[in-house]
Amino acid sequence: MIKAKKKFGQNFLIDNQIIKLIVDEIKFSETNKYLEIGPGMGALTSELQKNTKNLDLIEIDPDMIKILSAKINSTTQIFEGDVLGFSDNFFEGYNVVLGNLPYYIATEIIFRFIPINNVDILYFMVQKEVADRLVAKTGSKENSILTNLLGFNFRAEKCFDIKPESFDPSPKVTSSFIKLTRHRDYINEIRYVDYKRIIKESFKFKRKNLKNNLKGVLNLNDFENLEILPTNRAEDLSIEDFIKITKYVITNA
Ligand code: SAM
Repeated sequence: MIKAKKKFGQNFLIDNQIIKLIVDEIKFSETNKYLEIGPGMGALTSELQKNTKNLDLIEIDPDMIKILSAKINSTTQIFEGDVLGFSDNFFEGYNVVLGNLPYYIATEIIFRFIPINNVDILYFMVQKEVADRLVAKTGSKENSILTNLLGFNFRAEKCFDIKPESFDPSPKVTSSFIKLTRHRDYINEIRYVDYKRIIKESFKFKRKNLKNNLKGVLNLNDFENLEILPTNRAEDLSIEDFIKITKYVITNA
């Protein structure tokens, strides 16, 4: 049995019930092109292949690739390398991306797909803590930069949690299976780059309120015009509030 590599965040799924739940959650269609990130020894891959002929893989670990090569069918290609090193062009060949993500770069991988417009659905296994931030409600302490940047582009759903014992080796934390579906509700209203700048500024210092974090961007009069309390913290605002602020800043700049 091959030893799991910590540096690649390897926690292999060993729970057939969870694998079945994941596959049941995925909508398969002949027209979709699926890309799995970090297939490892192929726990999910084999089940995915029963449902689609349009599946390719990206894996960083050559040892895993050796194992996978013996398992996959001829329609599946394996691309070796760091998923974060592949170009936008490469990802344009796919519209559904999935995987049990290596937790050390899970959020970077999620962010990587924001600008890849043709990727409409992401199914990922991530730490529960990341999932809770993705689906956080306005006013909760989990409402964060991640919630608002992702939420501008994708609707996030937590499908179910997965206990550590479903993996070998067991991670220290609970995991969650999530589905992110691209929506295009806001992209015609404002540019994402402008929105992103406001989000970054608003959440700059977690304990500070908006008046302090947005000093130099909005004055007290501006807050009054926007009908937003300057004593609020960023976590108290919704995506629509941040869009309103962004539009205001752009218009009055
Ligand atoms: N999918 C398998 C499973 O569920 O059993 C393995 C999941 S394991 C949590 C993460 C996988 O991602 C490992 O196979 C690891 O080698 C791979 N990986 C880690 N970092 C990566 C990267 N930067 N790019 C591509 N794959 C990576």
